[in-house]
Amino acid sequence: MPPGVRRAVDPHLIKRFISRVFRLGASSQPIVVPREKHGLGRERISSGSRKVCEVLRERGYQAYVVGGAVRDLLLGLEPKDFDVATDARPEEVKRLFRRAIVIGRRFRLVHVMFGDETVEVSTFRAPSAPEPEETLEGETHERDAAPDHQVDAHGRILRDNVYGTREDDAARRDLTVNALYYDPYSEAVLDFHGGLRDLERKSVRMIGDPRGRFREDPVRMLRAARFAAKLGFKIDPKTRAPMRELAPLLENVPPSRVFEEILKLLLSGHAATSVRQLRDDGLHHGLLPLLDVIVEQPLGQRFVQLALGQTDERVRSGKPVSPAFLFAALLWHEVLAAWAKAEKKGAKRIPALYQAMDAVVDIQVSKLSIPRRFTAIMKEIWSMQPRFEQRSGRRPFALAAHERFRAAYDFLLLRAASGEVPEELVQWWTRFHHAGEAERTTMLLAQGPGEPGRRRRRRRRRRGGGEGQPPSAPAD
Ligand code: ATP
Ligand code: MG
Repeated sequence: MPPGVRRAVDPHLIKRFISRVFRLGASSQPIVVPREKHGLGRERISSGSRKVCEVLRERGYQAYVVGGAVRDLLLGLEPKDFDVATDARPEEVKRLFRRAIVIGRRFRLVHVMFGDETVEVSTFRAPSAPEPEETLEGETHERDAAPDHQVDAHGRILRDNVYGTREDDAARRDLTVNALYYDPYSEAVLDFHGGLRDLERKSVRMIGDPRGRFREDPVRMLRAARFAAKLGFKIDPKTRAPMRELAPLLENVPPSRVFEEILKLLLSGHAATSVRQLRDDGLHHGLLPLLDVIVEQPLGQRFVQLALGQTDERVRSGKPVSPAFLFAALLWHEVLAAWAKAEKKGAKRIPALYQAMDAVVDIQVSKLSIPRRFTAIMKEIWSMQPRFEQRSGRRPFALAAHERFRAAYDFLLLRAASGEVPEELVQWWTRFHHAGEAERTTMLLAQGPGEPGRRRRRRRRRRGGGEGQPPSAPAD
């Protein structure tokens, strides 16, 4: 690629052109690697995806298992799900299976169901067709008004032709290790971009020119970090080089897409490593706005690491995790800082907490579009924290009976583990939680007026309920 030419005229136009030519050039014939060389037999492919490929093939279509499943199987990992790519159009795919639905608006996919398994079948996509998340939740106004191919001022793709050839489909994928095609019929792996070599080298490498690919879709930077952490790979130096500079482009991506990708990263079972990777590369500022500031405060950093470590452990042992709990943890030190600030400005303790929660959530919703169903729970968890300091009268009973008690209590455990509140407070609540009515009452009686903890005794009359209750109805 001649760099001089690129800088001469409109850089984005030229870059787009060159990246297309580059990718068309790169997507020549694949290397076909037989089973004897890679060892992956069709019996390791899920029965649903095998069936889909078989039916499509019988009808004269091409059909391959693609993406993460092939990568993970070759690495000896358990794939999360099996995706199939084909030259059949979505309507044609749907017609061939009894339980199949077409999803997505502009880039349509078919979900084929067999018992518990859902196989996602996508038609070979043109190099610059949008990602499914964008199709489902993206900016419709841009798409509806746009001609066939459009990029924004930074080179991000807004609209393009949708379908392409098998070679196009391989070239539009992000990483070389994600562009391996497995044919269950011949048991061959088709390698278009050196993915097998990169699997051996343990290298996360973008297909094509990394700079251009990141400009087209900045979310790919997050994906590169996520896969490096998940697979224990290194990001190839050429792929990594432009990341720091281009990180701010993530701000132009619809927040819903960034949220989806961050959620994948946080729930991957490798969140702690992913975040460390982003931080070591100096990428957390632009890439993970919610980790700005937080990770630089010693208490906050410990708290975040504990929360991430705990989440990873749960994911790896197959336990359910609550994204709302995790986001509440990641943002807790933001809330603490805003809370202290509001109190300094003269707000009373609990109203100050509510102001802080609203401020933190508003910022994150605009940056990340955390769905309301999560922010509502986050606010509940946060607002219950001061109530743990009240250990006399009827209040502890009311708190222990709260439907969100368990989450709020787990959150208190994290706060204690990070050194924010005394262990003694946690021990008291653990005992109270498990105790019967009689024991609970003696525990309360044991508390004198100068009870431990950070409780402030205050007599105050307020409309709208007692301490720990919202001074007014919460925003969501
Ligand atoms: P996971 O195990 O996390 O599901 P995956 O590789 O299957 O990993 P998905 O997010 O499910 O990842 O995406 C499926 C495939 O679609 C990827 O393997 C990749 O080839 C392609 N892909 C996904 N997102 C992008 C993107 N932003 N740009 C280019 N290709 C993408
Ligand atoms: Mg996948």
